[in-house]
Amino acid sequence: MQHIIDRFISYVTIDTESDPNSTTTPSTPKQWNLATQLVEELKTIGLQDVTIDDKAYIMATLPSNVDFKVPTIGFISHFDTSPDFTGANVNPQVIPNYDGGDIVLNSDKNIVLSPKYFKDLLQYRGQTLITTDGTTLLGADDKAGITEIVTAMEYLIQHPEIKHGKIRIGFTPDEEIGRGAHHFDVDQFGADWAYTMDGSQVGELEYENFNAAGAKITFKGKSVHPGYAKGKMINSMLIANEFINALPKGETPEETRGYEGFFHVHHLSGSIEESVVELIIRDHNKTKFEKRKALIEKITKKINKKFAKQFGENIAIAEINDQYYNMKEKVLPVKHIVDIAEQAMKEVGIKPLIKPIRGGTDGSQLSYKGLPCPNIFAGGHNFHGKYEYVPVESIQKAIEVIVKIAELTAIRK
Ligand SMILES: [Zn+2]
Repeated sequence: MQHIIDRFISYVTIDTESDPNSTTTPSTPKQWNLATQLVEELKTIGLQDVTIDDKAYIMATLPSNVDFKVPTIGFISHFDTSPDFTGANVNPQVIPNYDGGDIVLNSDKNIVLSPKYFKDLLQYRGQTLITTDGTTLLGADDKAGITEIVTAMEYLIQHPEIKHGKIRIGFTPDEEIGRGAHHFDVDQFGADWAYTMDGSQVGELEYENFNAAGAKITFKGKSVHPGYAKGKMINSMLIANEFINALPKGETPEETRGYEGFFHVHHLSGSIEESVVELIIRDHNKTKFEKRKALIEKITKKINKKFAKQFGENIAIAEINDQYYNMKEKVLPVKHIVDIAEQAMKEVGIKPLIKPIRGGTDGSQLSYKGLPCPNIFAGGHNFHGKYEYVPVESIQKAIEVIVKIAELTAIRK
């Protein structure tokens, strides 16, 4: 267990925060610091074809040790951390034999990780937790995933009696800013399918995510002195308001769950002359997703019609862009790749928790690039903030799952 803790800590103490405002890849030069360390480590543990490209994408191979043909599988995680909270000077706290009570992360600032708010903690009584010191995020997302993949490969190298096919591993920068899959060379990776190790609690197995689009609606207006405005002024803010009110009630992130889709207005700015509403559209169901986009067009059209005479041209302009799609469409035709992961979990004593992701993953983008890629738990909780923690036992379980998947893929049929 100490080996896993040491490895994990060696990753999280290197700051790899990504930056959405950067146009380079990796988005921050500091991501190279961990990337180059990982390359050396992969070579040291005995992996082959260890490569890193000019954008810091790392790939490596564990060759097959069976003399018959089996599919090549891959495991993928990301080494950047979220820009939502600082990842500089992470000072991990190791809490052995967690007693189920409050964990004081920082007594000076009175920052407490408590099961009163974070009930998931109670599942981990008696286990070893790694937490922050209350001033940074931890980076278990997704350095737990990297720890698991590296340790599983090391274990397979040290245990040649475990039979497996060719395994490819891939570590990416910039997942947290939605670009982890952008420069991922699926052909070079050369796997039949892969798994991202990037979920939360033990047992999570995900192969459905949202279909996603973003919309920006610009409303124009006409500014006139308020004292002389009758029949002349058009206040674009009021039209934007009309638009928002025309969206279906109850279909917001805070009022939906499971497979329920939503519209989420996340930006609003305005003056009399011009107002802009930005929203995201999410739905697991492709037909409903298309209907949601059509509704935006319909409301916009209606507003344009209403103001056609007074304004003379279109008063509202909607730009809608698709962002990503539900990987289910690409994974269902090869459902056995989910079944293998499910079986692997059961065989190592984990109850699989299969549920739809209310978001996207790099795996969904990779699935559409031709690499079907469900997501498996990495073990951490409360990502992207100071309450982030990971039980070491969960990392161990994920390692066992990786090893078992490798084994199950290489059973002679
Ligand atoms: Zn992640």
